[in-house]
Amino acid sequence: MKRLHARYPFLEGAREAVATEAVDLATIVEQDGAVVDRARERVLSSLEDGETGEPSRDSRVELLSYPVARVLVSLVAERMLIRKYARAEAEAAFDRFTADFTDTTELKSVESSGVDLEDLLAEFDLVDAVHPIGDVDDPDGYRIDVGAYLPLSSDLWGDEWLLVNRALADGRVPISEAELLTLVREAVRERVEDGLPFDVPESIAESLEPEAQAVREVLADLDLTREIDTVVPDLFPPCMKALLDDIQKGEHLPHHSRFAITSFLTSIGMETDEIVDLYRVNSSFGEEMTRYQTDHIRGDTSPTDYSPPSCATMQSYGDCVNKDDLCERIPHPMAYYENRIDDADDDDLEDWREGNAEDEEADA
Ligand code: SF4
Repeated sequence: MKRLHARYPFLEGAREAVATEAVDLATIVEQDGAVVDRARERVLSSLEDGETGEPSRDSRVELLSYPVARVLVSLVAERMLIRKYARAEAEAAFDRFTADFTDTTELKSVESSGVDLEDLLAEFDLVDAVHPIGDVDDPDGYRIDVGAYLPLSSDLWGDEWLLVNRALADGRVPISEAELLTLVREAVRERVEDGLPFDVPESIAESLEPEAQAVREVLADLDLTREIDTVVPDLFPPCMKALLDDIQKGEHLPHHSRFAITSFLTSIGMETDEIVDLYRVNSSFGEEMTRYQTDHIRGDTSPTDYSPPSCATMQSYGDCVNKDDLCERIPHPMAYYENRIDDADDDDLEDWREGNAEDEEADA
C-alpha cells in the first residue's frame, strides 16, 4: 500500500497511512532531511515547471513529503502558489492514473501501486453521479449528474465546458471518457487545494523557514502581481478594460465606476503614482483628487483597505460589460485576473514585461 499512497498522497487512505506512521510532523521536519528536500522540490517545481519533480524512490520519503509540502505552501500562503501547487499535484496524479488505466501488466492486488477508474470515482464520491452510456454509438461515453459536473468544470477553460454547449438531458451531462478523466483531475486539484493555507505551529514554521524563504524567492521572481499592473492590461477582466478605456478617453465616470477601477488597480499592486499617471490623460481627473482617492482606497489614509466590487455588485451598477466565457465561471474581477495570469504562458508574460520596460525607457 505504501507505494500506492506514495504515488497518490491525496487519497484518504494515504492520510491515514501518514497518521499511522506514528510520526509527528515536527520531528520529521527537524530530523528527516530527505523528506524536507523532496517537499521543497515538490513546491519549487510546481512554481517553476508546473510539475512536482522527480519522485523519490523511497516510498516513505515520497509519501511524507506531501504533507510537508502542504505545510510549506501554508507558510508562504500566497494565492498564486496555492493554485500552482494544487495544479501541479493534480497534473502528476493525472499522468499516473491515465498510465495506470492503460497498464494491464500489473494484476490488482493489495500490493498494487495503481488505481482504476472505479477507485477514483469512489474516492471523490462520484460513483453514483457517473453513468456509463454503454451505447453502440458511444461505447466510451458517460453521463454525469449536473450537480457533480458544475463544480468540477467551473475552473476549466473553453466553451465546450459551458453547460449551454452540452446536451443536458434528465439532469445529466454527456461527456467523453477523456473529459471524465479531466474532471477527475479537477477533483484531485480541489482536494489538494482544500484547506490551504492552514495555520502552522511555531516550532514547525521555524524548522522550515529556510525552505519557505527559498519558495518566497522563486515566487518573488515570478511575482507578476507587482509588475503586472502596468504590463498586462490585456489580461484585465472586460469590465475593467472598459472602465480604463473610458478614463483614458477622458470620459467622466460616476463614483462607483471610479471606485471599481481604482480599487482593482491598487489590488493588483499598482502604486498611487502609476495610477495618477494612468489617469492623467483624463482632464476630469484632478491629480490631487485622484491621489487622495487612491490613497484612501488603498487604506493609506483610511482605516480600510478597500477591495474591488464583486461581479454581482458590478452588475447591479451596470459596470459589468463585454462578458466573456471566463466571466461565466468566476464571482469576482480579481478571480478573473488571477485566472488569466495563472494560465498565461510564462514566456508571454516575460514578453509583456520586457515590452513594458522598453515603453518606460522610451517615455523617460
Ligand atoms: S462578469 Fe465579473 S469580471 Fe466579467 S465583466 Fe462582469 S464584472 Fe467583470
